[in-house]
Amino acid sequence: MTIHVLVADDEPHIGRIIQTKLEQGPFRVTLVSDGPAALSALEEYPDIALVLLDVMMPGLTGLEVLARIRADARWSALPCMILTAGGHEQHREEAFKLNVDDFLTKPFSPKRLFARVAELTATAPGVS
Ligand SMILES: [Mg+2]
Repeated sequence: MTIHVLVADDEPHIGRIIQTKLEQGPFRVTLVSDGPAALSALEEYPDIALVLLDVMMPGLTGLEVLARIRADARWSALPCMILTAGGHEQHREEAFKLNVDDFLTKPFSPKRLFARVAELTATAPGVS
């Protein structure tokens, strides 16, 4: 069984690094490159078990997407991670106000990212 992870990042090489790492494990990745596409993917794939959002993206920022996820009863408990460039401490505060499950700073360790995704999806409802 694969665990479906949604990754939203507007830098294609970052998205590919994350996808390659996660797909070494029990994960399958849907990769999008802007905020509105992240919300569309959630509508389209009800099996998404975790969302990883870059902050600076076209359309809607990752924090705006996170706020919409948390405000929607279908996704309010969905594990969400935020990924941002270093030096944006206000993003961390905002993300934790929105009940983010984890916050990673670029440059990030793909191994650590994998470990956190594995931990967070192991406790997600409906995933065993
Ligand atoms: Mg970005």
